[in-house]
Amino acid sequence: MARIVMKFGGTSVADLELIRMAARRVKAEAESGHEVAVVVSAMAGVTNQLVDYVDRAAKLFDLREYDVVVSSGEQVTSGLMAVILQDMGVPARSWLGWQIPLLTDEAHGNARIENVDTTDIVRRFADGQVAVVAGFQGIDPHGRITTLGRGGTDTSAVALAAALGARRCDIYTDVDGVYTSDPRIVAKARKLDKVTYEEMLEMASLGAKVLQTRSVELAMKHRVRLRVRSSFDESPGTLVVDEDEIVEKAIVSGIAYSRDEAKVTLINVPDRPGTAARIFGPLADAGINVDMIVQNAAVDEKTTGMTFTVRKTDLERAVEVLKRQQPDLGYGELSADSNVVKVSVIGVGMRSHAGVAQSMFKTLAEKGINIQVISTSEIKVSVLVAEEYTELAVRSLHTAYGLDAD
Ligand code: ASP
Ligand code: MG
Repeated sequence: MARIVMKFGGTSVADLELIRMAARRVKAEAESGHEVAVVVSAMAGVTNQLVDYVDRAAKLFDLREYDVVVSSGEQVTSGLMAVILQDMGVPARSWLGWQIPLLTDEAHGNARIENVDTTDIVRRFADGQVAVVAGFQGIDPHGRITTLGRGGTDTSAVALAAALGARRCDIYTDVDGVYTSDPRIVAKARKLDKVTYEEMLEMASLGAKVLQTRSVELAMKHRVRLRVRSSFDESPGTLVVDEDEIVEKAIVSGIAYSRDEAKVTLINVPDRPGTAARIFGPLADAGINVDMIVQNAAVDEKTTGMTFTVRKTDLERAVEVLKRQQPDLGYGELSADSNVVKVSVIGVGMRSHAGVAQSMFKTLAEKGINIQVISTSEIKVSVLVAEEYTELAVRSLHTAYGLDAD
């Protein structure tokens, strides 16, 4: 007997028939003697609809009321899941975030979980009851409802699994696992049996939509064993685990890309102490995240060039902020380019193997793809290239690192 958490995403509970299908899986786990907590998303499309209502209700709105509205989709599916389980003879009850309670901070619309009190849920496990938890929602210190950011049900599930000391947290979704690359553009992408937390974290933050980034951070912190698997077949999915659990480590385990990048270049920036702080300070104050940064060496020892990337949606604002700062910064020219994509090679094996970056550069050079910006971390090499090369770059790297399925 074990304690397990089962999370069902929006496409897995999109209508009554699908909720019934998910409930059958829950029933099977409960009947094999496990203590089961189920965490559900809203039906696919419902949260978008709710967000749209709020957007259209008023130009500026109170985020506390936004949370009241957009959290409601999960209330519906948690109640329906409980009703269906009961109808199948499985004792079950629903739990809204505030009823648990799942405490968060007060960052409405994107709140962070602070504590999950599992006392009542655990007490009811002892009576054989399945807990059906509405994902994506919590309660703040003022007693107001909060939501955890889009895709937040993953994070609800992981936080609950951590608090319950669950043996595993199964994430049921509409794909059968985590792939070496995006199967929509790489036909030869392979499903990974296992992937490390760190690699998954990079993949998630680079735009692989399987898991909310924050849920992976949380799983890594609390060593929650995650399994990403399909609601629609019986394949075992992908385990997201600690590095020690992976015997045969590949040097590179995935190629990711993000089109949500834009490049800003400042030319002839006075090269003196404090320049970077004066450029990036105002951007940070405006809530704009900067990702890759390159500063060129000053040729004449007086001026330098600075190139960096921001999210596409932040580009216009970033340019505005920098133009306003121009008199203070004293740069010569500003250019902005949103026709770029960031392509990344990810793998924990890079820590112990040299030459990974070099094969990336060589592969891209052979395809005639110009690299505009490079950045590296311990387990990742990223390059910025023109957007029209996305497919070519990702596919050739996938082949070059031996990731193609046979
Ligand atoms: N229903 C929420 C969303 O669509 C949360 C989730 O599904 O994870 O973002
Ligand atoms: Mg999701």
